[in-house]
Amino acid sequence: MLKNETITMIVKEQYQYFLSGRTQSIIFRKQQLKKLKQLMIDYENEISEALYKDLGKSQFESYLAEIRIIKEEINYALKHLKKWLKSRSVSTPIEQFPATAFIQPQPKGVVLIISPWNYPFSLAVLPLIGAIAAGNCAIVKPSEISIHTSKLLEKIINNNFDSAYIKIVEGGKEISQKLLQEKFDHIFFTGSPSVGKIVMEAATKNLTPVTLELGGKSPCIVDKNINLKETAKRIIWGKFINAGQSCIAPDYLLVNQRIKSTLLEALCQAIQEFFGEEPSKSPDYGRIINEHHFKRLSALLQSGKIIIGGQFIPEMRYISPTIMDEVSANFPIMQEEIFGPILPIIDYKEIEEAITFINQRPKPLAIYLFSNDKKQQKIVIEKTISGAVCLNDTVMQYGVPQLPFGGIGNSGIGSYHGKASFDIFSHYKSVLNRSFWLETNLRFPPYKGKLKWFKRLLG
Ligand code: NAD
Repeated sequence: MLKNETITMIVKEQYQYFLSGRTQSIIFRKQQLKKLKQLMIDYENEISEALYKDLGKSQFESYLAEIRIIKEEINYALKHLKKWLKSRSVSTPIEQFPATAFIQPQPKGVVLIISPWNYPFSLAVLPLIGAIAAGNCAIVKPSEISIHTSKLLEKIINNNFDSAYIKIVEGGKEISQKLLQEKFDHIFFTGSPSVGKIVMEAATKNLTPVTLELGGKSPCIVDKNINLKETAKRIIWGKFINAGQSCIAPDYLLVNQRIKSTLLEALCQAIQEFFGEEPSKSPDYGRIINEHHFKRLSALLQSGKIIIGGQFIPEMRYISPTIMDEVSANFPIMQEEIFGPILPIIDYKEIEEAITFINQRPKPLAIYLFSNDKKQQKIVIEKTISGAVCLNDTVMQYGVPQLPFGGIGNSGIGSYHGKASFDIFSHYKSVLNRSFWLETNLRFPPYKGKLKWFKRLLG
């Protein structure tokens, strides 16, 4: 395990590197982003292999959610960086005349990124893209639980970047806590709300700003008058991608009573269409990350009436795609983030009931609504508070770089992706430039006789 002194040394070297000014130029930033993109291409197969070993991820899922998204984010940053770096002129009040003023982004300095195990590659690298684009040095601590991906990240990054500029530091919570004792200029954390609190507490000691990308229960409302077959496909895809271990997976369904039985049929059919009669044999269905989470999820299978699924194979850490009815709001499954392949269903009569149900719980990362009724869409957007709302689909909001991604309250603080990533790792400095021309001396003492002139001229 890395000693405290070693970590302190790495941080110190990064500050020296940052203060050398090397990370500042647009040419340097673009070179590093291009290099990172090329590494994604060169290591594509190894990345997929590591993700398969950690989570049983199919090559398609790995490419879609871990590799392509990084390449797209880099392309977006490369395309817009020149514009993002430009200072923005602002007007000045009359009493400042003659003067010019502008707001200029500048890198914060040395930043720390701590990432989780569920999308272990992309959730370590996506924030790093923002940090590089904004001109920072960065230390990244991937999750120790997704061990193969963590090792690969260390190999890819540490063999190709100067460690005084970007460094992967592997390790568990002890290393994480050692890192948190150091002073950084920003901490970007993705993980659970409980660890988010520990990170924020550590950050307060140095008044370090934080971005917390957390989790929670993201509800999915399904109302009547909607294409239920397509709806079911979109829900099943978003729920069971990565075996349900996605922070924005629909956690539970709130379904209009009138269409419940038809929807249930369509959901079961979609599961069979996607993963076959025996999902354990499907190459497209993932595995639970470790024994701890396997046991936790197996226990949740007792929470209600199983409509489909409910099978599990401990030695494979396999839990079949499961839909569950007759779930009470007091059951553990409705108290904690499921983060696995179990989808409970609760029904409602009127949409207001669903909204009240959501509003009585912590603010979610995402709310999904399947409804073609524009009035209902408006009501859900306006009457609920969440990181995002996605209408008539699930998870897809994640792939729009123009939409900042993040939570609110229990689901997080701050957001990233696209320009938002550049923004969180930048400080927007205000600059005022005054001219010596036309000095009235009105503001200088002695003030005798000046107030009436001041009021007459400036109010
Ligand atoms: P976690 O909070 O257990 O761990 C996240 C990171 O924190 C890991 O690198 C881990 O080593 C470190 N860590 C763990 N305990 C720590 C401690 N006591 N002190 C300091 N560091 C510590 O989360 P996880 O289990 O890896 O991921 C699952 C959670 O992450 C879920 O709640 C999920 O919703 C959330 N998540 C959120 C997003 C998002 O973008 N909002 C994305 C993925 C996952």
